[in-house]
Amino acid sequence: MSPPQGSTVPAPAVAPLPLAPAGRQHSLGWRLVWTTLIFCVFFILVSVAALTWTAWNAGVERMDAELAQIEQIYSGTLSKAIWELDREALQAHVQSVRKVPAVGSISVQVALANRPTEVFEASRTGWTGPGRAPTRHLVLSYEPYPGAHETVGELVLQGNEHVLWQQLRRQLATIVAAQLLQSLMLAGLIMLVFHRMVTVHVRRIAEHLARMGPGNLSLQLQLERPRRRRDELTQLESGVNQLQASLAVHLESQRRYEQELAAHRDDLARLVAERTAELESANARLQSLARTDTLTGLPNRRHFDETQTMELRRARRSSQRLALLVCDIDSFKDYNDHYGHAMGDRCLSAVAQALKTHLVRAGDLVARIGGEEFGVILPNTDRLGAQLLAERLVKAVADCGIAHAHSPAARVVTISVGLAVLHPDSDDDFDALFQRADAALYRAKAAGRNQVAGLD
Ligand code: GH3
Ligand code: MG
Ligand code: MG
Repeated sequence: MSPPQGSTVPAPAVAPLPLAPAGRQHSLGWRLVWTTLIFCVFFILVSVAALTWTAWNAGVERMDAELAQIEQIYSGTLSKAIWELDREALQAHVQSVRKVPAVGSISVQVALANRPTEVFEASRTGWTGPGRAPTRHLVLSYEPYPGAHETVGELVLQGNEHVLWQQLRRQLATIVAAQLLQSLMLAGLIMLVFHRMVTVHVRRIAEHLARMGPGNLSLQLQLERPRRRRDELTQLESGVNQLQASLAVHLESQRRYEQELAAHRDDLARLVAERTAELESANARLQSLARTDTLTGLPNRRHFDETQTMELRRARRSSQRLALLVCDIDSFKDYNDHYGHAMGDRCLSAVAQALKTHLVRAGDLVARIGGEEFGVILPNTDRLGAQLLAERLVKAVADCGIAHAHSPAARVVTISVGLAVLHPDSDDDFDALFQRADAALYRAKAAGRNQVAGLD
């Protein structure tokens, strides 16, 4: 097979699909040839049979005509020899006829009036009978003088069947050879035409499709054929090109959709991230608000409780002391009563600010734990350190100089502080520590307020 014809196609962008393994491929042309050959064999058998039959009949007719000719030639001489009772001549004529190849046997029956019947006959060596060869009978008559016809005997000529078979064999060989040649030429012609008109182009289409991929859909299929030829291959060619075109359009729109989808996805992700950040920040603000006292801005009771649990665990873990101060504004009810609730609130804020300002160490916590009560947690602080800080706080509040005309302790707003310290080896929980600090606060109040009291 010659290499496929057609336009040159550049290397494809994607790996080509593998063609079917060459070993298993069967050319359409070869299939057609085989089918034609099988039909030809059948056709040869039938036509040879018909032609043989015709040739045989023709041979028989030819032999019959030949025997008729012999009859015509010899009937006169034989009749004359019989009439003249010339046995030698008769015998010579019989032998002469026997030598003709078409004659199998000759028999001359002498039937003269007043004479016994006599037969002269001769046949070919090894002759067994006429078989399918023709046999002719002729009554011999002699005309001794014009107008007198005398029957003198009968000539029987039997044809030689071997000659018929010989002729048939020769003709048969010619017939078979001619038919074979004709069939082979027909098959070859069909294959050649089919190859040039179909196989080459079908292969070209198959290779084109195998090379086809998303990257080279724009390469059109072009068969190397005259433009004016319009048939199924033209339909196939334009069908492939249309399919490629619509595939290219489809892939392009799909690519656009994917890009749009990716852009939407990015937008969505950005939006989700923004919303999440906003939510987180709002949540943090909410958390902080939930743990902050709105009036003073200090951590509230909830924050204080969370911290105390945490600090108690930490103190136990690291075998450190934990000090707690409970601060309470002195005679604050009277303050409210005298200056009004709004002034009371402002006073609370000022006291809170003073306490906060004087707690400088990281880890210390001051929280508003009740109406005019503040709790101070001092991690890793012994009794002396706590005492000093508590006294500093008492002084700091008094130094604010907020006038309080009805306080029994001073002329300004003051606080009393109850102090308690938790030892690392103690079994006390925070409630117990708080109760001790509260008890100390009670003692500070009882001792005249504006002072610090510890356990003693
Ligand atoms: P003591 O010296 O024994 O502590 O006397 P006290 O009057 O301070 O104690 P008491 O418990 O009798 O009164 C506390 C007062 O604190 C009562 C309440 O009106 C006031 N108070 C509590 N919370 C607030 C608040 O948020 N704002 C204002 N303005 N006053 C508050
Ligand atoms: Mg109180
Ligand atoms: Mg009070």
